[in-house]
Amino acid sequence: MEAYDIITVGSGHNALVAAALLARAGNRVLVLEKNDKSGGFVRTEEVTLPGFKHDLYATRYPLFLISKAYGELEADLRARGLEYLNTDLPTGVVLPDGRSAILSSDLETSAAEFDRLSPGDGQALADLMGEFGKYAHKVFPLFSLDLASKEAQVLIGELMGSGKGDFAPFAAEFMQTARDVLNDRFRSPVAKALIAPWVPHLGRTLDSVSSGFDVSLLLSALMAGGMPVPRSGADMLVKALARIVTDHGGAIRCDAPVDRILVERGRAVGVRVKDGDTYTAGRAVIASVNADQLYLKLLADADVPRPLVQQAKRYPYGLGCVQIQLALSKLPDWPDDRLRAGEPHLLRSMEACALAIAQAKNGDLPSEPTLSVDVPTQHDPSRAPRGMGCVRFLELPA
Ligand SMILES: Cc1cc2nc3c(=O)[nH]c(=O)nc-3n(C[C@H](O)[C@H](O)[C@H](O)COP(=O)(O)OP(=O)(O)OC[C@H]3O[C@@H](n4cnc5c(N)ncnc54)[C@H](O)[C@@H]3O)c2cc1C
Repeated sequence: MEAYDIITVGSGHNALVAAALLARAGNRVLVLEKNDKSGGFVRTEEVTLPGFKHDLYATRYPLFLISKAYGELEADLRARGLEYLNTDLPTGVVLPDGRSAILSSDLETSAAEFDRLSPGDGQALADLMGEFGKYAHKVFPLFSLDLASKEAQVLIGELMGSGKGDFAPFAAEFMQTARDVLNDRFRSPVAKALIAPWVPHLGRTLDSVSSGFDVSLLLSALMAGGMPVPRSGADMLVKALARIVTDHGGAIRCDAPVDRILVERGRAVGVRVKDGDTYTAGRAVIASVNADQLYLKLLADADVPRPLVQQAKRYPYGLGCVQIQLALSKLPDWPDDRLRAGEPHLLRSMEACALAIAQAKNGDLPSEPTLSVDVPTQHDPSRAPRGMGCVRFLELPA
């Protein structure tokens, strides 16, 4: 039985970030991954033709670049080969009739673009971002806090309450749907179609409660984070994180599916993998897996509180998506050259996007697709032979 301080179940990039920080802090870390490679949904393979590097799942993570974890690890990641290539035109849209628009990282440029689409929409965008700006310093920390912690509860209380016993304006805005926010704020159908498809990227519908909040959140993340891709493939992030772990004495084992988390007196003390080997964890076991697997399978022998088991049984999986990877003999010709840089969408309208989600939720194939078009080779030529490219079409809902 091997002994470690920390064991992570799974090696997705979230687990690897934790493993890297903990290994760097002096802990003996073991990462156990059931697949043949670490990285989870961050994986790069030559799946079409030799020399064409395709990100099989996640490619771009603007929120990671503005996270506390990236801030803490940036120098170590760079030293191990991770380099982000970014753009100040993170996204855009093309409608079937050829109308197009872009979003810029620069608010003034975006506002001018929105005014071009419909006079007044520029001010509407500036107002929306200005209002969110008042809350952003309380909202973003919540992403890296335990929501049941005192610190998080203070922030949530401040966001939701006025301090005088009634609700703050944020509370009312938080309950709006994305469709309501887009219709209330903007007149241009092109502006609405530019923003709408980002909501299903979060696994949400345009009519989900509080999806209106996603609109401000997404715009703010896209403007602050851009649309970064790692040079040479998304798995450069995984490789760099894994090297931090191993450079600090940690170990990563693939083909090692964890079967049980071992619990003694209410405390996780180790894990057992499928072949029967066990490993002890003196300080913590970090399960970076879905909640249903954690509570129903990995902790099946432990005394898990009944409400947690019930919730795990109802764990909701998001909508699926269809993805097509192509090797290109030349880079695409865009009807609007500004769309070359980021991750634009092709769709008819916000309403068509909402309909596609509703059809998918009904179990039908969408009658008209909302497509995200990602051509990372447009700013990372190293992913394909000279002059050629890779494209990923992602049909939302995702
Ligand atoms: C097609 C597609 C495209 C996407 N594109 C983007 C994008 O461009 N940008 C973005 O931000 N997000 C994107 N996402 C979402 C993103 O991939 C995920 O949110 C992210 O990868 C989750 O990371 P994670 O570290 O939490 O877990 P995961 O990546 O899910 O990793 C979990 C790991 O745990 C392992 N594991 C599970 N159970 C066990 C076990 N019992 N024992 C050992 N190992 C186990 C799994 O094999 C896996 O390797 C996309 C997702 C898909 C499917």
